[in-house]
Amino acid sequence: MNEKGNISIHTENIFPVIKKFLYSDNEIFLRELVSNAVDATQKLKRLASLGQYKGEVGDVTIDVAFDEKAKTITISDRGIGMTAEEVKKYINQIAFSGATEFVEKFKEAKDANEIIGRFGLGFYSAFMVADKVEIQTLSYQEGAEPTRWVCDGSTSYQITEGNRTARGTDVILHINADSEEFLDKGRLQEILDKYGKFLPVPIRFGTRTSSEPDGEDKEGKPKYKSVEVDNIINNTQPAWTKAPSELKDEDYLAFYRELYPYSLDEPLFWIHLNVDYPFNLTGILYFPKLKENFEIQKNKIKLYSRQVFITDEVKDIVPEFLMLLHGVIDSPDIPLNVSRSFLQADSNVKKINAHITKKVADKLAELFKTDRKGFEEKWPDIALFVKYGMLSDDKFAEKANEFCLLKNTEGEIYTLKEYAEKVKDIQQDKDGHVIYLYTNDAAQQDGYITTAKERGYDVLVMDSPIDSHFVAYIEQKGEKTQLKRVDADVIDKLIQKEDTKTLQLTEEESKKAVELFEKAISRDNMKVYVEALSESELPVTVTIDEFIRRMKDMAQTGGGMSFYGSMPDNYKVTVNGNHPLIKRILSDENTEEQQQLAKQAFDLALLSRGLLSGNELTNFVKRSVSLIG
Ligand code: ADP
Repeated sequence: MNEKGNISIHTENIFPVIKKFLYSDNEIFLRELVSNAVDATQKLKRLASLGQYKGEVGDVTIDVAFDEKAKTITISDRGIGMTAEEVKKYINQIAFSGATEFVEKFKEAKDANEIIGRFGLGFYSAFMVADKVEIQTLSYQEGAEPTRWVCDGSTSYQITEGNRTARGTDVILHINADSEEFLDKGRLQEILDKYGKFLPVPIRFGTRTSSEPDGEDKEGKPKYKSVEVDNIINNTQPAWTKAPSELKDEDYLAFYRELYPYSLDEPLFWIHLNVDYPFNLTGILYFPKLKENFEIQKNKIKLYSRQVFITDEVKDIVPEFLMLLHGVIDSPDIPLNVSRSFLQADSNVKKINAHITKKVADKLAELFKTDRKGFEEKWPDIALFVKYGMLSDDKFAEKANEFCLLKNTEGEIYTLKEYAEKVKDIQQDKDGHVIYLYTNDAAQQDGYITTAKERGYDVLVMDSPIDSHFVAYIEQKGEKTQLKRVDADVIDKLIQKEDTKTLQLTEEESKKAVELFEKAISRDNMKVYVEALSESELPVTVTIDEFIRRMKDMAQTGGGMSFYGSMPDNYKVTVNGNHPLIKRILSDENTEEQQQLAKQAFDLALLSRGLLSGNELTNFVKRSVSLIG
């Protein structure tokens, strides 16, 4: 047998194209060739289990080896091998409908993955790193003859008799001058770890030194010796491929460490995904402790296809909020080789999204139902995730309404429904709106919180970055519900009841009070109002408008609306016209003293808001001393 021929593509020379356009991603040649070796091995095992292969299956470990001097990398398997006819059919006739289509499409392709899978060019990716590729193969079929195929990177090939004596295939790459980085143990190990860590057939990459027990020393302590052992790079049965019933908590935690060896935190809990209809999907998703910081970048979800690592850029494959989770998704049904925009529209991807979202919501609902106390303890770590999910996905929100929790300043925890029930009567205003009061900084807003509590009102704690958005969400979903930050206005205005107090000042006196305070304050961003509040309220209160403040908060946490983000803070100064002190100030005949008192009352209001500092604080202290004296 000695046959020469041309690879049946009609483009002059495809290999320069492959090399040039796929250069950036060229490490995937190893993924492709090792995957082919795995496929060939699994085909053989299947034939054996069906009784169509009667021989001994034996050890099917795949070997990856390199020779620095000869500048070769060899991938050897003990799979089904190929006959000369099969080599011609599968290797020569490149499996795509037309070379012209390829040449047209590669122009638009953004990465190597896209071209390689789409056009069945797995094997040919070898030419990204090799000048010459050689195959030595022997088919499993009885009486098959060993075959050698060699191709030097042009479109011509040569088939001759081969030298393989055992069933299977060697693919020998003669590495080109630009790709010598791959003739390095560390580099190859790194690529194998990345793509092959969980392949279903053992992959051996040389040997490694290991320490083994070696009896005891004189003092009876165990001794160890160094031995060379096979360097098997993969775990062929990662946890996600097993049935959940076979796994204990320790196994899930151990697998987490296997996935993220550098992670310090343990996950809180996990979901084992297992679907086979209408699409195929397995995987394990872990809930990390999230707290305030979005650790999206740290431990990413890894996407596999039949245990071959594909990517950890799952942005278009799982809904964005789920990217806060860690773990593995394995699905042969995700079309990995199409463009990203196409992916989002793909019906399988949509179904997969919906499925994962539902599973995650169901898991949380179950944890909440079966162990509410435990769930409440974990809440601070998952709140961000749940709220983010509710804001971005209606279906998720529907379910999450049952287990999304609110906490008040007393540390009491309620579901949304329970809370609505709790405040619906007492915090209803004259128009029938229920007003939820909240604080984003309980220490700083303590004065306001105390006043609210004295009225019998409840104050929620909403202090995470996502809460400025979540506040708006609760309002949207709740019927006649409004949320107001506890320092957004004086309490009587926050929840306005029917019986508005009558102002004890005349119109004249009111006007005088406004003038007096405006003069004492003399700041552009502070507007003075006189209101009829109860006598127990402070004489002067400084507040910031809920709407403007909320827009500013949202702008800060990335909710758009940068217009508000750049606005200065505007404060409302409420002078309590019914407070005895105001009446006293107004009736003071000494204008000097009048100004002093007005300033003092205003500074007190600023002080309770944490707005008094520097020189003004010093002046306030001095003035206080002289007023006391
Ligand atoms: P794909 O794997 O997507 O079919 P490839 O270009 O990688 O495309 O391979 C083409 C074909 O060549 C495979 O489908 C298989 O039939 C054959 N092949 C490749 N590598 C091997 C191997 N190591 N052993 C047996 N057959 C192989």
